[in-house]
Amino acid sequence: MSERPTTAGQQHGRRSWAEPWKIKMVEPLSMTTREQREAALEGAGYNTFLLRSEDVYIDLLTDSGTSAMSDRQWAGMMLGDESYAGSRNFYALERAVQDHYGYLHVIPTHQGRGAEHLLSRTTIKPGQFVPGNMYFTTTRLHQELAGATFVDVIIDEAHDPTDMHPFKGNVDLDKLQALFDRVGPEKVAYVSLAGTVNMAGGQPVSMANARAVYALAREHGVKVYLDATRMVENALFIQEREEGYADHTIAQILREFCGYTDGGWISAKKDSLVNIGGWLAVNDDALFEELRNQVVIFEGLHTYGGLAGRDMQAMAIGIAESVQEDHVRARVGQVRYLGELLEAWDVPMVLPIGGHAIFLDARRFYPHLPQDAFPAQTLAAELYLDSGIRSMERGIASAGRDPKTGDHNRPKLELTRLTIPRRVYTQAHMDVVAESVKAVFDARESARGLEMVYEPKYLRFFQARFAPLA
Ligand SMILES: *Cc1c(COP(=O)(O)O)cnc(C)c1O
Repeated sequence: MSERPTTAGQQHGRRSWAEPWKIKMVEPLSMTTREQREAALEGAGYNTFLLRSEDVYIDLLTDSGTSAMSDRQWAGMMLGDESYAGSRNFYALERAVQDHYGYLHVIPTHQGRGAEHLLSRTTIKPGQFVPGNMYFTTTRLHQELAGATFVDVIIDEAHDPTDMHPFKGNVDLDKLQALFDRVGPEKVAYVSLAGTVNMAGGQPVSMANARAVYALAREHGVKVYLDATRMVENALFIQEREEGYADHTIAQILREFCGYTDGGWISAKKDSLVNIGGWLAVNDDALFEELRNQVVIFEGLHTYGGLAGRDMQAMAIGIAESVQEDHVRARVGQVRYLGELLEAWDVPMVLPIGGHAIFLDARRFYPHLPQDAFPAQTLAAELYLDSGIRSMERGIASAGRDPKTGDHNRPKLELTRLTIPRRVYTQAHMDVVAESVKAVFDARESARGLEMVYEPKYLRFFQARFAPLA
């Protein structure tokens, strides 16, 4: 098992794969010694969110806003039309969203949560319910702030890190029907569908499921809105796994999928290969009028939505690049390459491998550590100490406390996320990451766990401080 697995291409006698881009400008990485990392980690309270990026070698904290833009996108930045109203860059963005996502009316926003805010406040009446395929932090918070109760209607398989269901992001139609029956469809603001599902491990939704959700919602007069943040990656999984889609392009699959929804929004910091930006798009004329009125209050005029013209231009170009077959295959393929190296070494993780990250299963990694010793946080700390690689805890620290009992929430999934930025790191970096995870795995029995010594009141995982247990 110590042999590195060959790539799928080699196994089938084809030629090796390589990144479909070459490097035109480089950003040097910081190389640190173990002593420097020990000091940096102690200074950061053993929390990777509190490290300075200068002290990080390979940064896998997030794929949000961390993409490398192409030469064409940078050229687009020079075409910024910084007019307050009617910038030509807005019309380029509008056209890109209409062409690739198929929605009629487009409103730019400063990033994804700006769109979530606008959609929530215009479509939710206090006391209503919003069903969704597992939650996302900012999405759910905006729905709750608008007065809704979120209801998770994802299939049960999504909560099991070892279940090999090919579409673990699917909505459970019986759970959705049960909600309609229980509260009545007039109490359901909309169905909040996301592809892929981040919190489940980057897991996709099938086309058949999207079609069925749309049909069921329509039957009850309820709209479906799509969080399209990583929908391009979802489209690749449909192409690979769903009967009848092998010869469809990513662009065709994306258009068809969005056609089973009434509108959508995006954090363009993910799929669309930009460092900042987002949008909200709907087909309904009256809702668009209302949104266009609201965006002026919170984001900016409806032709810039809190963005510079140059950012909209880079986004428009990024959208077109994001659906190119070579790009998507390389992007998800790089995540899979890392995952397959780790799988071959029996490193426990969430399977199937998702679209944007590897989620290490800290419960099985450190079976001797109780959840109160923060196994996923410990793993993130050990990985940083070993090699300077930065990851993120998604376990008991992220889950916070029960507001009623004051106890820790104890989530089933205790995960450490290695999130891969788009077009930033090479396959050689993935080898270094895999080898470091392997080294930490080999030394797993010596891990002692952490205790929390400072706990902020809200979203504690960002700023909490820890100390090693004796
Ligand atoms: C990042 C993200 C958001 C929020 O977008 P921001 O650009 O960070 O405000 C919403 N949904 C999903 C699935 C995300 O990953």
